[in-house]
Amino acid sequence: MKNDKLKQYFKSEELLGRGIYWVENTVIKTTSNVTKEGKVKVLDELKNEVLRCKKCELHKTRNKVVFGEGNPNCVIMLVGEAPGREEDLQGRPFVGEAGKLLDKMLEAIGFSREDVYIANVLKCRPPGNRDPLPEEIRACKDYLMRQIEIIKPSIILTLGKFATSVILDKSRYEFSRLRGKICDWKGIKVLPTFHPAALLRHRGWKKEAWEHLKLLRRLYDEREERTN
Ligand code: SF4
Repeated sequence: MKNDKLKQYFKSEELLGRGIYWVENTVIKTTSNVTKEGKVKVLDELKNEVLRCKKCELHKTRNKVVFGEGNPNCVIMLVGEAPGREEDLQGRPFVGEAGKLLDKMLEAIGFSREDVYIANVLKCRPPGNRDPLPEEIRACKDYLMRQIEIIKPSIILTLGKFATSVILDKSRYEFSRLRGKICDWKGIKVLPTFHPAALLRHRGWKKEAWEHLKLLRRLYDEREERTN
């Protein structure tokens, strides 16, 4: 969709409530909160764009694009690295073994998938679950940024070194220093933690991950106290 048409589309009061939207460097900006229905529609538009994407070589080997899913009105957004084998087959994020662990992690602090929104940095699976390449991250990052702009979470839990480095614009080698620390990014609290797949490989890291989860719950509760 061309920018002019996109602006017109976003400015529709009927569709988006009272928020005024515009597009700047392909990032959607908004002046106010929008309705849940408005967010769903704008996310659907973006999803349709991503489903057709051929901006990097991963489109040649993917089975399904994994756009992301969850509550568009969430307080907490989870950002992972890239789809794995199961996710690539089903077109949904975190549905394999790591996804089952992620569900348990959320449950342990009183949340379910329906409470949060889950997306990855890459929307297509790197073959053999290899690490994302810099050019793939560059090609795909804008989609994640637009998802965040639409959803407007108060807290982002980054899962693993790639998601952390992309959101905080740091080297992935800084993950060991950043994990478990509350970082500020554009007014959003970002909390880096381990990727669930890494926790499956290194069970000894679970104790530290539990501390991160408790911190996430505390951030959420403090935010609720402030806003209620
Ligand atoms: S990984 Fe991202 S940039 Fe690459 S083809 Fe898939 S959606 Fe497009």
